[in-house]
Amino acid sequence: MAMTGVTQFAYLVASVLFIFALHWMNAPATARRGVRAGVAATAIAVVFTWAQPFIIHHWWIVGAIAAGFIVGVPLSMVPLTAVPQRTALSHAFGGAAAGLVGTAEFYLGWQEGPGHLTTFKMVALVLECILGYLTLTGSLMAAGKLQEISWIPQRPVTYPGQNIVNLILLAVAIGLAVAVIINPTAPAAPLWFAIIIGLALLFGFLLIIPIGGADMPTVIAILNAYAGLSAVAMGFALDNRLLITAGALDGSSGLILAIIMCKAMNRSFINVLFGAFGQVQKVIVGGEAKVYKSETVEGAAQVLEQANLVVIIPGYGMAVAQAQHKIRELYDQLKKRGITVKFAIHPVAGRMPGHMNVLLAEADIPYTDLVEMEEINTDMPQADVALVVGANDVVNPAARTDKTSPIYGMPIIDADKARMVFAIKRSKNPGFAGIDNELYFADRTWMLFGDAKAVIGELVKQLASGSGMH
Ligand code: NDP
Repeated sequence: MAMTGVTQFAYLVASVLFIFALHWMNAPATARRGVRAGVAATAIAVVFTWAQPFIIHHWWIVGAIAAGFIVGVPLSMVPLTAVPQRTALSHAFGGAAAGLVGTAEFYLGWQEGPGHLTTFKMVALVLECILGYLTLTGSLMAAGKLQEISWIPQRPVTYPGQNIVNLILLAVAIGLAVAVIINPTAPAAPLWFAIIIGLALLFGFLLIIPIGGADMPTVIAILNAYAGLSAVAMGFALDNRLLITAGALDGSSGLILAIIMCKAMNRSFINVLFGAFGQVQKVIVGGEAKVYKSETVEGAAQVLEQANLVVIIPGYGMAVAQAQHKIRELYDQLKKRGITVKFAIHPVAGRMPGHMNVLLAEADIPYTDLVEMEEINTDMPQADVALVVGANDVVNPAARTDKTSPIYGMPIIDADKARMVFAIKRSKNPGFAGIDNELYFADRTWMLFGDAKAVIGELVKQLASGSGMH
């Protein structure tokens, strides 16, 4: 498929735009520009590919674009709390696209006879289909787990010999792949290829069932890497350099993200993929019942306005409550009194990377007041108040002290080192890892039970009405 110079140039422009898109998405201030660059690059890629002389069935392209809009527009409207599963669905579509293109290329090539399926092309097609189809079922399972669909178990499902079964399936798939690569026009090749596809679909499913909900966002990043790699293979199969570049960017960014997330949770890749994290914890009965101390909103407002430094630590509960705009009002009230207010951002607070940054940016909180974990931890002993808003695991001191805890070793925000802690949550329920949090029973901690948006709203009202003003 010879490409004109104009198309090659357009592809080059699109590749550069993809690279800048990723670069700009690194910082909140340029993120919107990054998204626009990515959209422009995709549009250029589609239009210039469509304009190729070998594209003759234009209605197929129109139909594909229409299908893309029908699926894509509703997907873009999901609430922020559903973004992880939305991302998983996008990867499922990416994997399906690569798998279907690879399947079509193979069966057409097989019909056309020898010479059409070179060894190089076959290697690319097999890789494209294995990675594409396993991304499809793996991502659908991941989305289902995150959406808490009732018939998909949320907790890891393990059985004896699980990894061995997976390895045997993989070995069979590799064996058939070698056969079909060596002899792509054999009469049985279509059957071998179909079995490879079936095994890849099954493998994606089996890969996800032993993984618990808490690890799902990391797994989604890994699936992102697989989808990218299948696009790279598709680029080689179709001799399309733009696909190779875009797929490589997609694949490597997914991998880098997965590594960052594993580091932030102190988990290894192997541990995420095979660790069955998130098993139901045995509740340890015995010992003295732990007592929570509650504070009233009035009391908390009085303490807050006496403070010099308030560190707000948001977590998943802020996202659930959509409390970011009320937090902005609280921020304004405190700033008006000359109080320094900082936001402590844990890299895995919430349910997706950058979750807190996105929400706080939506409420126009200055980026300069969002402080990364390592940096804010040095300030925590000087903080007069740590205000924990719907965060749990990311402030759990067990990560530092309790070797038996499943989150032991995960870096946390040292809320417990502040002079006083107010913690907003609705109940005594644990966070995502399913474990108790000593911070809530500590001497210096007072609970403000309730929905984060409602409690912060009350705090703002108190401060605005000037009650407790000295
Ligand atoms: P957690 O899930 O640990 O805790 C959230 C807390 O918010 C809960 O204890 C809950 O308590 C409270 N909450 C829920 N809804 C509300 C509400 N409407 N108002 C007030 N409080 C509410 O969240 P964290 O952010 O602390 O930690 C994130 C967890 O997710 C970590 O375990 C992390 O490893 C995991 N994770 C995150 C990823 C990411 O990319 N961000 C990726 C993979 C895993 P209650 O029900 O009592 O209100």
